Amino acid sequence: MPSTATERASALRTAVQTQIRNFEKALGANGQPIPVSDYFGSLTFGLAQMREKISKEAYDDLLQTLDLGKKLKPETAHAIAVVIKDWAVAKGVTHFCHWFQPMTGLTAEKHDAFISIHHSHHSELRVVEKFTGSQLIQGEPDASSFPSGGMRSTFEARGYTAWDPGSPLFIMEDETGKTLCIPTIFFGYHGQALDNKTPLLRSVDSLSREACEFLKLVGDVDVKNVQATLGAEQEYFLIDKNFVALRPDLIMTGRTLLGAPSTRGQQLEDHYFGAIPRRVKAFMEDAEHELYKLGIPVKTRHNEVAPSQFEVAPIFEDVGISADHNTITMEVLKKTALRHGMVCLLHEKPFAGINGSGKHNNWSIRNDKGENLLDPGTTPHQNLRFLAVLAIVLKSVYDHADVLRASIATPGNDHRLGANEAPPAIISVFLGSLLGQILDNIEAGKAVQATERQILDLGVAKIPNISRDYTDRNRTSPFAFTGNKFEFRAVGSSANVAVPMTFLNGAVAFGFKQAAQRLKDLLKGKANRDESVMELIRQLITESKKVRFEGNGYSEEWKAEAKRRGLPIMNTSVEALQVLNNAKATAFLTEMNILTAEEISSRYHIAVERYVKTLEIELGSLAELVQTHVISAVEKQLTLHAKVSEGIGASELKKTHRKRIETLEKVFAAVLDRLDSLEEKLDEIRGMHDESKKMKLIADEAVPAAAKLREAADEAERLVADELWPLPKYREMLFANSLA
Ligand code: ADP
Ligand code: MG
Repeated sequence: MPSTATERASALRTAVQTQIRNFEKALGANGQPIPVSDYFGSLTFGLAQMREKISKEAYDDLLQTLDLGKKLKPETAHAIAVVIKDWAVAKGVTHFCHWFQPMTGLTAEKHDAFISIHHSHHSELRVVEKFTGSQLIQGEPDASSFPSGGMRSTFEARGYTAWDPGSPLFIMEDETGKTLCIPTIFFGYHGQALDNKTPLLRSVDSLSREACEFLKLVGDVDVKNVQATLGAEQEYFLIDKNFVALRPDLIMTGRTLLGAPSTRGQQLEDHYFGAIPRRVKAFMEDAEHELYKLGIPVKTRHNEVAPSQFEVAPIFEDVGISADHNTITMEVLKKTALRHGMVCLLHEKPFAGINGSGKHNNWSIRNDKGENLLDPGTTPHQNLRFLAVLAIVLKSVYDHADVLRASIATPGNDHRLGANEAPPAIISVFLGSLLGQILDNIEAGKAVQATERQILDLGVAKIPNISRDYTDRNRTSPFAFTGNKFEFRAVGSSANVAVPMTFLNGAVAFGFKQAAQRLKDLLKGKANRDESVMELIRQLITESKKVRFEGNGYSEEWKAEAKRRGLPIMNTSVEALQVLNNAKATAFLTEMNILTAEEISSRYHIAVERYVKTLEIELGSLAELVQTHVISAVEKQLTLHAKVSEGIGASELKKTHRKRIETLEKVFAAVLDRLDSLEEKLDEIRGMHDESKKMKLIADEAVPAAAKLREAADEAERLVADELWPLPKYREMLFANSLA
């Protein structure tokens, strides 16, 4: 009978022996790699292809829909559907689906075949490939299985998907076939948003409207629209499939619920700059190949801080597209890893004691000329505009820090935020010393004195000529300015970025609206526009000063300082989610037409329900794992000890030996007691009905009980013979890739 040690050793051997998968390398006839430019986006169908393939009238009609929100004519929809079908069928696609992002945070697909089967004259069945305009534009998935947070009663459980022409269609392909995915939004019978994409699109509209209004006042009279841009750096772990198969916790919850730290973790700091293991490199090349075909512009790849942790970063795109692209990227990473014998873990904290994973959201805004509004620029006007936009973002983040915190509140992120590796749960902004100095000077009403050449005297106002500040990179800030964009670093690795991006866009849209109003008032008083803008900037940076923090965000001093400053401090999701119940805090979202009060409340309920369900699964899995794996392993070890004592007589045992046995006995007693306590708590929770109260009890009592149980179980792992321990250990899971 194979012992568990044998199983683990065999998993390790398989991992080591795994042939580097001979993935579909894009090789040309000459055996050389095909340039990426030849196949980039080959599985997508977007505006460029439509312009090429449909009539000018039809394309103009589509643009009217995109730019002005006009309803697409049925004939146009049909014309587009025909070219899409022809393209897709030529690529070997058999099915299409309306692809959407329900509030579960994942993506959903409803598949239909391209074929239409009907009876011909003589009652013979005829099959034709068919795809109509209405199939393209609208769908009606059975919505009752998606969460609505109480917005729908069952008798009107209808939900609709509608094509989002702003995001390219794409083909998902694997060994099982090819499916055309149509990016859609998902909403209820009364137009309520049932997904994460609808509010994101609304937030971009509001941002564009309010920013244009403001920019016109500043002198950009011809600005037509403004877009938010996003580049989302994705962190992940890769763990051999054979180990994952032996870890019920990874399978059930995506993270390890038990596991003593290995003697070597990340303390040597040797992974970040280390060579990428060959096996992982093969995976990355394969994944990048897939992503390029899908038109996803990934650019950099590298090791991350923890062993077996990696990152992929795309080039930024408009936020609607890049949010879609990030969810597709997560899918592709997971699928590709499996093909390479590994599991891609996107959880925020798969392993205790080493770094977790985040998703840095690089965010900026651009105008319709493609100018980055957070780029200091080269002319005095660009600098003034830059300072104004920067000040508005600062003020918006300061005013809505609590809601931004709520937008990243998930059970997974609770493990990461503030855990000495990730930014704290306190939202603050890092600007860097040069920019910080410039703002301080503006606030003090001083001529800007960064350095001589940074001053540009316009006669009426001193406007600094700002050069990018690359000198100072603060990794501990949750929201950092990095030269020409902000980096929202507190977002969790498994998050749908549409959520934090919606809230950020909304906060800044509202900031633009308020700033425009104030500027109008200032302009009434003063004749000179630039001077009024400078005065507005001065006011905004003064009012938002408390949110700026340049120091070490991981430190205890900062927590105390933030408290003194009165910044919102919400250490857990449970606290953070309550913000969604605060109508005053969320008023900007309703005022900007991003979410109605009903939609916000539904999101609160869904978040609470997901928290409760996730934790019930985790806590239940932990209890089961301890009962079925840990206890029996310790029993075996104790039996073994008893046999040894019997053989030579307990009194003959060396004192130190006896002490070790007693330690294990004590640990065993702790495991049993703490398991009892956890199970009692679980019973209590299961018997409760009010979800909010359940969430609170889980966070306040069950989670600490679980942590104590884990502590004892991990102690047991250190005391039990390797051959008796049934679960793959941290050292095996985290370091196997480097052996392969
Ligand atoms: P850094 O030197 O700060 O790492 P990079 O140019 O490598 O800067 O960019 C890091 C990430 O920020 C990339 O995903 C990149 O696409 C993104 N990024 C750069 N400029 C912008 C922008 N204007 N808006 C949004 N994201 C951006
Ligand atoms: Mg990073």
